[in-house]
Amino acid sequence: MASIVVTGGGMAGLTSAMLLAEDGHEVTVLERDPSPIPSPTEAWESWTRRGVAQFRMVHFFQPRFRMEAERALPRVVTALEGAGALRLNFVEGAPTELTGGARPGDDDFAVVTSRRPVAESVVAGCAAATPGVTIRRGVAVAGLTTGAEAVPGIPHVTGVRTEEGEEIGADLVVDATGRRSPLSDWLAAAGGRRPDEEMEDSGFIYYGRHFRSADGSFPPILGPLLQNYGSISVLTLPADNGTWGVAIIASSGDTAVRAVRDIDAWTKVVSSLPFAAHWLDGEPLDDRVQIMTKIEDRHRRFVVDGRPVVTGALAVADAWACTNPSLGRGITLGLLHALTLRDVLRKTEVDDPAGLVLGFHEATMATVEPWYRATVAFDRHRLADIEGEITGEPYRPDDPTWEIGQALQFAAGSDPDCFRAFLSIAGVLQLPADAVAQPGVFEKVVEVGEQWRQAPLLGPSRKELLEMLSA
Ligand SMILES: Cc1cc2nc3c(=O)[nH]c(=O)nc-3n(C[C@H](O)[C@H](O)[C@H](O)COP(=O)(O)OP(=O)(O)OC[C@H]3O[C@@H](n4cnc5c(N)ncnc54)[C@H](O)[C@@H]3O)c2cc1C
Repeated sequence: MASIVVTGGGMAGLTSAMLLAEDGHEVTVLERDPSPIPSPTEAWESWTRRGVAQFRMVHFFQPRFRMEAERALPRVVTALEGAGALRLNFVEGAPTELTGGARPGDDDFAVVTSRRPVAESVVAGCAAATPGVTIRRGVAVAGLTTGAEAVPGIPHVTGVRTEEGEEIGADLVVDATGRRSPLSDWLAAAGGRRPDEEMEDSGFIYYGRHFRSADGSFPPILGPLLQNYGSISVLTLPADNGTWGVAIIASSGDTAVRAVRDIDAWTKVVSSLPFAAHWLDGEPLDDRVQIMTKIEDRHRRFVVDGRPVVTGALAVADAWACTNPSLGRGITLGLLHALTLRDVLRKTEVDDPAGLVLGFHEATMATVEPWYRATVAFDRHRLADIEGEITGEPYRPDDPTWEIGQALQFAAGSDPDCFRAFLSIAGVLQLPADAVAQPGVFEKVVEVGEQWRQAPLLGPSRKELLEMLSA
């Protein structure tokens, strides 16, 4: 069994630590933010997390997160529900005309979800109580220590150095420092090459708020949680204890829409969206619009031309790859990646450092890489679609995956098979190609969904939106 240092104690660092400790490893999590973990009831009001810019932004946990957590970390799901997280099944809650009645497998569509601070305090509490996990808060990692090379010419990491100058040795360092992970810089400083990196601004901006009902309920779900209304989208995300989040998503280049940073303009726009307006009927939990911009798509490859760029260190979750989050997959993919790491470590020991990096790379390509690619592809299309709405030139890419995805979403509004296929993709249960390949689904997508371009525009037109914002 190995001694493992996890850098970063966010959702992925903490879940990785629990999974690895349960396999008998000794895990130390080093988290830069010093604040102690509040109870879930205090987390929303009192927890400051400078290290996670999106900490107070709307969040939602997909069915696959619930499913994998119930299998691998059931106490986390129990604790989430104990803290008031919402258990909800999209099929059970939908009208019978749409679902065609209950079917085997519908249980898969259940979620357990909450506001981000509530979930993170629960996960942090569970991690702190896990034998074999030590969490040190207020410890910022500044770099790596290296030792005898396992592969000639490639740095081998033997631990980390903190900002205070402390050196902490480890058989393996797992980087979970999130979107702004400094691992590339640390590798360069250690004399290694940087991983191959793809990075660009995703081009989206988020304007979010949270609300609470007086009676613990949440507003009826009348459409998908992510609804596209021409040049803007809106997220309506039910959460814990009768709370929920609402966010407008726009192109960050769309200066005309930036006025929604003003709370009155934001409210006016959400009020004009037919499936979202009633999500304003609650007590606001924040006195301003939370804004998040400069959200990058970033992907790192730690094996280049068949050779590792480093041994003794691996990156998980956002530190490996992150995308525009409108599909709400980040935390689910982080858990899948942590499970991937656990499974690779069951097959390959830390005394085979090159085998470990190569094995983890291969497993990453099989488990989470296809989701990363599918998410980025969706985002690029949606951004171009928004651009088309702004310029008035309808977006017609020569890419059947976009057409099929749009047709599937349209057909999901009336056909039970397409409804479930759509939910499977949204819930990170099945990749788009696999969901559409289910018996009969593609035929229905063609038959029912082909009219998707003729669907009536349900919110304000672009002109009406701009008039509203300039009023
Ligand atoms: C606007 C927005 C909305 C989102 N909505 C959703 C959603 O609805 N559903 C969903 O699943 N995902 C969502 N995501 C994505 C999700 O927030 C991330 O995928 C998730 O936070 C990644 O977890 P992580 O542990 O990898 O990184 P983080 O949560 O970023 O944690 C990284 C940790 O590392 C620490 N750290 C950084 N540097 C150091 C250092 N040098 N030394 C020690 N510690 C360090 C930080 O303090 C932090 O605690 C959203 C993201 C954004 C930007």
